[in-house]
Amino acid sequence: MVVTMENDPFESVAGFAGLGLRAELLRALTSLGYEEPTPIQQEAIPPLVAGNDLVGQAATGTGKTAAFALPVLQALAAGRRDAGPGALVLVPTRELAEQVSQAVHRYGRELGVRVLPVYGGQPIGRQLQALARGVDVVVGTPGRVLDHIERGTLKLGDVRTVVLDEADEMLDMGFAEDIEAILAETPETRQTVLFSATMPPRIDGIARRHLRNPVRITMGRKGVEPGELPLVRQSAYIVARAHKTAALGRILDVEAPTSAIVFCRTREEVDQVTETLNGRGYRAEALHGGMSQDQRDRVMNRLRAGSTELLVATDVAARGLDVEQLTHVINFNVPAAPEAYVHRIGRVGRAGREGSAITLAEPREQRMLKAIERLTGQRITLEKLPTVTDLRARRLELTRTALQASLETDDLERFRVVLDSLTDEFDVENIALAAVKLLHEAAGGDVEEEEIPSPSPAAGDRAPSGRDRAGGGRRDRPSDSSVARLFFGIGRRAGLRPQDLVGAIAGESGLSARDIGAIQITDRFSLVEVPEPAADMVIAAMQRSTIRGRRPTVRRERFVR
Ligand code: AMP
Repeated sequence: MVVTMENDPFESVAGFAGLGLRAELLRALTSLGYEEPTPIQQEAIPPLVAGNDLVGQAATGTGKTAAFALPVLQALAAGRRDAGPGALVLVPTRELAEQVSQAVHRYGRELGVRVLPVYGGQPIGRQLQALARGVDVVVGTPGRVLDHIERGTLKLGDVRTVVLDEADEMLDMGFAEDIEAILAETPETRQTVLFSATMPPRIDGIARRHLRNPVRITMGRKGVEPGELPLVRQSAYIVARAHKTAALGRILDVEAPTSAIVFCRTREEVDQVTETLNGRGYRAEALHGGMSQDQRDRVMNRLRAGSTELLVATDVAARGLDVEQLTHVINFNVPAAPEAYVHRIGRVGRAGREGSAITLAEPREQRMLKAIERLTGQRITLEKLPTVTDLRARRLELTRTALQASLETDDLERFRVVLDSLTDEFDVENIALAAVKLLHEAAGGDVEEEEIPSPSPAAGDRAPSGRDRAGGGRRDRPSDSSVARLFFGIGRRAGLRPQDLVGAIAGESGLSARDIGAIQITDRFSLVEVPEPAADMVIAAMQRSTIRGRRPTVRRERFVR
């Protein structure tokens, strides 16, 4: 194996320090193991720190949260602490409200910034107490934020920055009017930041009405030259965050790569993944920017000598690293920019050799896979995670292959005495079976693992409670593969009932009411199961018609493909 380090990758990185952030924030990022800004952070942080409004086209997985959270924290640290919150972040779902507030809390730990998630479904008492004590950043869903404004428990007169995160999702969920009402409560002098994965005209309208000379940032517009991409098998697995490490182990077991790089986002992740893989019997080595030159050299030597089969690395650490004969590039996360994906997979399939690029994506990150497909013009196949049965079958196959190789090449004569001493008492076939069992066990044996559940829609406003499951008892779900779940941007608040949906779908699309599966209605949107072959036809039909006097967004539910 040939490995070269072209230059010291750490020297050339300007990193977060070049973006004008305070020392407290830089220390927080270092302690989280972030090595360099993602492209959206590189572009967005300087203008935001300078106080500009900004419109950014970026999906989950690009690092957009830190792109707005760091400048918000920087401004809070520099300004005075008022009675009311200094920043308001509006997000479409409860899940995102929690994620964003955790991120703000982590980045702002040294600054002692107080952040509060505010969303429906959570007892309001706790929110009231926290608001009364004083909060610096409120991260909330528009409905609940408006409730607080109307109760007089949230005053936005001191807000200096408003962030609209995942603005397209908020509009799809019918929050447009709430957003307008909330913005009207904030000072006109505020800084306004809008992030959205897509830029339909309605988003542009909001930006024109509420933002002043915004800086505009669009990621991933550049195309890829033909020939720039290697011919590798590209696949992805959709896995919930909690099951990613287990999923990685299982995928590696089935793929059995000769030599692979596993890319992680942070130093912490590198260490954690390396430890898990070693625990699973792999010879894995970590490579990240927190290591000394000496440590890195030793890792590279072991890789050269073939005593390491898996390298677990951050982008920064792997930069300038040229490893021949890599069979697999594995992305433990979707890379923060489609260009980074192209760069990473360029490490396999060299000189016409076969290679595989495998990506683990969380349900919310599927958009990023689409963005990569658009950039490369190549398809990424979604695969199903190997089940415990698949894994058992694969391990037996490996045992069989090992036996076959031994039968074909090894000199087995010296073991004949063992065999002869047993044949008086036992049948040869049984002796062979016992030998296979021992070999199999020595190689790791049978899998003692739980099944990894396939991801369900993310928890949050998107996960309706049991109470919402109207029509759930009508009949059993058809098998999942034949069912598509459709999102309707209309819910209980518009007075919607299950029979309205059934009536509209059956009436407009010609589908029989019996073909319509489970219906879930929440305050603001609904999910309806229809037979997969009819899904596109239903969507097209619904776009031409109204339900309870409205024409809601109708599309496939994004967490199910
Ligand atoms: P987001 O797109 O904001 O949801 O972020 C996606 C993930 O990337 C989160 O888990 C962040 O903690 C992580 N992340 C954000 N910025 C960086 C960075 N510069 N380096 C490493 N990880 C990051």
